[in-house]
Amino acid sequence: MQTQFHGKTIELRQGDITAEQTDAIVNAANSRLAGGGGVDGAIHRRGGLTIMRDTRDRYPAGCPTGSAVISTAGELNAKYVIHAVGPVWHGGGRGESELLRGAFRRSLELAAEHGCRSIAMPALSTGAYGYPMDEAARIALATAAEFLKTHDQPELIRFVLFDGAAYDAFAAALESVRDD
Ligand code: ADP
Repeated sequence: MQTQFHGKTIELRQGDITAEQTDAIVNAANSRLAGGGGVDGAIHRRGGLTIMRDTRDRYPAGCPTGSAVISTAGELNAKYVIHAVGPVWHGGGRGESELLRGAFRRSLELAAEHGCRSIAMPALSTGAYGYPMDEAARIALATAAEFLKTHDQPELIRFVLFDGAAYDAFAAALESVRDD
């Protein structure tokens, strides 16, 4: 499923994000950039050790929640990996929505700053971090649509969802963002 926004494309795809061939692939990282399970484990397994070496060298202090940093993509079919740190879900009263928006927004800014024409993003925070999928999908898509209002790049923002339930939640959210 895909929709045009201001001449650029937001697309949804079900699959494994490590198989993407976009200029940038976004990782669901933790604030220590220490590696973990889920998307992070898959990216480091498939991308090789250079990704972790590069992030350790460049960002020894890690990355704050609600932001992102950029590294080499190692052996992945991408130019960059962008390590985004979404919030842990605590019920919604600890600024989670703003932090999740920030993680997506900073990822898109880094992609634009590095001349990326395409970016693949996962459903940040919805795995181990427990963010409710429907709300996360709305924030992800609203942030992407908002970004495309004022930026020429990336021209393609692709959300890569691991399973059918995540895809359906993003499809419903994309409909409502489109109608706004
Ligand atoms: P977080 O710690 O930010 O919650 P996770 O990596 O645990 O991050 O999960 C984020 C989302 O990514 C979840 O919806 C999970 O199902 C999904 N996911 C896990 N592995 C992959 C993958 N290889 N490609 C795309 N999405 C994935």
